[in-house]
Amino acid sequence: MRRQRQAKIVATLGPASSSKEAIQALFEAGADVFRFNFSHGTHQDHQARCNIVREIERTAGRPIAILADLQGPKLRVGQFAEGKVTLVAGQEFALDRDPAPGTAQRVCLPHPELFEVIGAGQSLLLDDGKLRLAVLGNEGRVIRTRVVNGGVLSDRKGVNVPDVVLPIPALTEKDLRDLDFALEMGADWIALSFVQRPEDLVQARAIVGNRAALLAKLEKPAALDALDAIVAVSDAIMVARGDLGVEVPPERVPGVQKRILRACRLQGKPIVIATQMLESMISAPVPTRAEASDVASAIYDGADAVMLSAESASGAYPTEAVSIMNRIICEVEKDPLYRQMIDAQNQAPMPNSGDAICSALREVTQIVGAVATVTYTSSGHTSLRAARERPMAPILSITPNLSTARRLALAWGVHSTVSPDVRNVDRMVAAACQAALREGFGQPGDQIAITAGVPFGQPGSTNLLRIAQIWPTDEPAAA
Ligand code: PGA
Ligand code: MN
Repeated sequence: MRRQRQAKIVATLGPASSSKEAIQALFEAGADVFRFNFSHGTHQDHQARCNIVREIERTAGRPIAILADLQGPKLRVGQFAEGKVTLVAGQEFALDRDPAPGTAQRVCLPHPELFEVIGAGQSLLLDDGKLRLAVLGNEGRVIRTRVVNGGVLSDRKGVNVPDVVLPIPALTEKDLRDLDFALEMGADWIALSFVQRPEDLVQARAIVGNRAALLAKLEKPAALDALDAIVAVSDAIMVARGDLGVEVPPERVPGVQKRILRACRLQGKPIVIATQMLESMISAPVPTRAEASDVASAIYDGADAVMLSAESASGAYPTEAVSIMNRIICEVEKDPLYRQMIDAQNQAPMPNSGDAICSALREVTQIVGAVATVTYTSSGHTSLRAARERPMAPILSITPNLSTARRLALAWGVHSTVSPDVRNVDRMVAAACQAALREGFGQPGDQIAITAGVPFGQPGSTNLLRIAQIWPTDEPAAA
C-alpha cells in the first residue's frame, strides 16, 4: 500500500473515532499519523486506541506514527459561586489567590507564578480570547484589572497571558504522569504544548531520551522570539493556531504561520499546520471554499503535514474530513505551480557529506527521471535531510528500526519500510530495487537513486550516491 501524495495527514482520535472500524476508515482515507490528545480522555481510552492503531499497522504492513499531545500549562480561572458571572466593559475585576468561589468583582487565579510576572499595562485574555482584561496593577496577591471586552465568564475558563514569558515549565505534574504513560504505551512522537523557550525541549528530552521524538507546539508569542533556537532543539514543529490565535491577533496568524514554516524548512524539521483547517466539517459533510484553500495553501507553502482536530476526534464526518484533505493535497501536488513554488524555496545544503549527497540526490533524480529516491537510514536523519531537498520522486526510506520508520510517517514524501541492514553495495542496490518494485514505486527498467553510508550500519555516515536500474531479480534481498 502506498499513498499517492507527499504531504502527510495527522488525524486526532477522540469519541468519534475510537472503534476499530472508525480508526481503520481514517487510515484508509489517508491518515498517516494519529494524534492522541491528552487534554481529554483517560489513560485507558488512549491505550485502547493505541492497541487498535498497532493492530491496523500490523495488517496494513505500513508504519503508523502515534503522536501523544500533552496538555501543557493551560491556565484557568477558579470557580464561581453561581457557576458563571457576566463582566461588563469598563468595570473593575480582580484576580486573587483566595480559593473562595468567585463573584462579578473577583475570582481566584490558582497559579501563584502568575502573580510574579503580571504588571500594569498587560492584557489577560479569558475563554479563548472572548473576554479581555487590562491590568491596572498587581499587589502581589491581587491583580486589579479593567474589563475591556466583557461577556459571560464561567468556571475554569482558560486564561491567556500573551505579553510575558511565564516562569512555568512546559511540563506540569499531569504532563509528567501522561508522559510516563505515553512512553510506556509506545508513542512515537511527544508533543509539548505552550512551549516558550528552548529549555522546555531540553527538559523534556532529558526524560524522554531517544524513546520518542519531540514536537514543539508553537502557540505562544514568546516562542516566536526564540523561534530558530526552538526549531533547532525540536524534532518537529506544530503551528497550533487555536491558542496562537488567542495570544496574537487573528490578522497576524497567517504571517506567523509562514514565518514558522520558513524557519522549519530551512532547518529541515517536519512542520505540521494545525487547527480549524476544516472546522465546518465538524457538522457538515463538505468544507467551505476558504477551508479548502487554507489546506491547499499550507501544502503550496511546503508544509510536511496538515492536521485535523475536532473534525476527526468529535465531529460528525471524521472520514470525510480525512478524504477531502487527501484530495486537496493530491490536487495541489499535481499542479505544476506547486513544483515551481517548492523549487523556489530550495534551501542550500549544510556543508557536510550527508547534505551534499542529499542535494546531489535531488539533482540526479530530476536529471535521470528516477521513480524513487531510496535512503538507507538508522536514525531517520538521512531521510529527513533528503525530504528537506523536496526531490521530484518520493523518498523510499529503508531502516532496520521500526521506531524510525514510524516517526518518519510525519515527514514530507517519506515512505518507510523496515528491512535488516545490508552489508555491501551490491546487496544494497538489489534490496533497494526490490523494495521499489514491491512497494509499487517502479517497474523493471525504471531508474532509482540510492543513498547510503559506507561502512554500512554506522549512523551519520551517508557518503554514497548510486543510480540503479530496477531489474527483475529472483535473488532475496537479505543482507
Ligand atoms: P490544542 O492545540 O488543541 O491542544 O489546544 C492546538 C492549538 O492550540 O491550535
Ligand atoms: Mn493549544
